[in-house]
Amino acid sequence: DTVHGVILYLEDITVSFDGFKALNNLTLDIDVGELRCIIGPNGAGKTTMMDVITGKTRPASGRAFFGQTMDLTSLSEAQIAHQGIGRKFQRPTVFENHSVFENLELAMKTDKRVLPTLFSRLGGEQLDRIAQTLDLIRLGALAGTPAGLLSHGQKQWLEIGMLLMQEPRLLLLDEPVAGMTDAETERTGELLNELRGKHSLMVVEHDMDFVAQIAGQGKVTVLHEGSVLAEGSMAAVQSDPRVIEVYLGR
Ligand code: ADP
Repeated sequence: DTVHGVILYLEDITVSFDGFKALNNLTLDIDVGELRCIIGPNGAGKTTMMDVITGKTRPASGRAFFGQTMDLTSLSEAQIAHQGIGRKFQRPTVFENHSVFENLELAMKTDKRVLPTLFSRLGGEQLDRIAQTLDLIRLGALAGTPAGLLSHGQKQWLEIGMLLMQEPRLLLLDEPVAGMTDAETERTGELLNELRGKHSLMVVEHDMDFVAQIAGQGKVTVLHEGSVLAEGSMAAVQSDPRVIEVYLGR
């Protein structure tokens, strides 16, 4: 599934909390290399969906296929992370006392394939990967700066970089621009657009201008009451009467 096909297929997922269905027969698929935006009002089930994908929450019914054949609902959180699903929560978690460079280096070395090199010098290929990631996350000039001194937005970029160092097969981002300045939001959009096609991404976001910036010609999925209410281009879902009602009728 490295070039074509479906990276994630959620099939009829239902999650109940004391009889309340946070997800209600949710069915959704994401292609390899796709950048899928997920929107929907508060309580729509967006967080619960990501909890199911990462194994934090087990559905009452339904299955979640990763790379076509692997059913995630039978795996533990650790096993799922090991399969290459990276998740970024809203709050950035970086090693504040370590430099930007060291944060990327540490993230790369938690990848078990590089573990034997944990106490050795970095090879040229590894240095290249770090340099490329520094460019991508716009922190090349701050490589030696302790992460604790970065702005909120810069910490968010660093955390995205750290996830990328682990070469995830699917990246889940929860409101990546929450709390960012307008300029940081704009640059985050550029960054995510650079990832399109090279990585498979699911981005949950409230900021509609930002969704419009990163959705491009791609699909946007609108969740409501635990199911998919609408799916299509940003223009199509924005003019869908059902979507308008859900957003305005509250
Ligand atoms: P979103 O992320 O779209 O705002 P959530 O997935 O957080 O939505 O929540 C979906 C619904 O499920 C909400 O009504 C929420 O109150 C409920 N819910 C989520 N987690 C729990 C839980 N652990 N126990 C009870 N209800 C929950």
